[in-house]
Amino acid sequence: MSARIIDGKAIAAGLRAELKEKVEAFGKTGRTPGLAVVLVGNDPASAVYVRAKARQTVDAGMQSFEHRLPEVVSQDQLMRLVETLNDDFAVDGILVQLPLPPHIDATALLSAVDPAKDVDGFHPINAGRLATGDTRALSPCTPLGCIHLLKSVEPDLTGAHAVVLGRSNIVGKPLAQLLLGENCTVTIAHSRTRDIADLCRTADVVVAAAGQPEMVRGDWIKRGALVIDVGINRIARDGGYRLVGDVAFDEVCDRAGAITPVPGGVGPMTIAYLLQNTLKAARQRSGAAAI
Ligand code: NDP
Repeated sequence: MSARIIDGKAIAAGLRAELKEKVEAFGKTGRTPGLAVVLVGNDPASAVYVRAKARQTVDAGMQSFEHRLPEVVSQDQLMRLVETLNDDFAVDGILVQLPLPPHIDATALLSAVDPAKDVDGFHPINAGRLATGDTRALSPCTPLGCIHLLKSVEPDLTGAHAVVLGRSNIVGKPLAQLLLGENCTVTIAHSRTRDIADLCRTADVVVAAAGQPEMVRGDWIKRGALVIDVGINRIARDGGYRLVGDVAFDEVCDRAGAITPVPGGVGPMTIAYLLQNTLKAARQRSGAAAI
């Protein structure tokens, strides 16, 4: 058996097309949703992400505000910028591109973002809302994208045993909360978990977000299980570099029911949900019903 490949690129494109229509409808209230992105320093990968985010924001009919700051910017300057964006009526979403330089206290900065504009979903208020099932939560984009991809294959995940590899605040923990919200029985594994392979063999759903190249092997996967590969790892191979996920794709394809590729799986969904969160923030700020 060869697994069905979940085409995140196509699903994200469909989501953005739907979103564009919703943005147009929202425009009848007299407002255009706006997303502000703050980029510090010259990290080439971050610059690529920020460009893609800005382009897709505009393509979806929303306003994009970019703030590029030099590597040497101070914490105070960044805090002041965030406060200005918090007070700017035209800005519905604020995204601070990570990673930040080591002299910046990222936790303090992210906590300074108005939770109503926290489209990355990293603010403790939004983490709390997600944990308590409050529908106003702006939840992290990558986990939202993972749930969407899973539901594209299996709309009702009730009762499934889901194993999440990774417990970061950005991916693993919020993903576990979202899976609970879908009535899964959730196990969170991390670097200190014993017998991860055996644990995965009991899973109906495996989401790999450990940042370990091709860690999940074919014989870890129950036949027919759904496998979502969040990992993005750049490894040296065949005299060059290539991107691989946390899942040994070819091996797992032979056993899984469905699997996401890397690239072209979870990655494109992350930006689509950033735009979705920006519209949700705009609607909530203007008192319209949640999308
Ligand atoms: P972190 O490094 O913050 O977290 C990694 C997690 O994996 C930790 O909880 C760690 O455990 C766990 N882990 C590490 N090694 C192992 C192991 N051998 N066995 C089991 N668990 C392990 O990473 P992120 O959560 O930020 O990202 C995870 C991956 O997803 C990365 O490859 C990243 O590039 C990718 N990513 C992709 C995105 C996308 O849009 N596609 C978006 C965000 C991330 P412990 O807590 O014990 O240290």
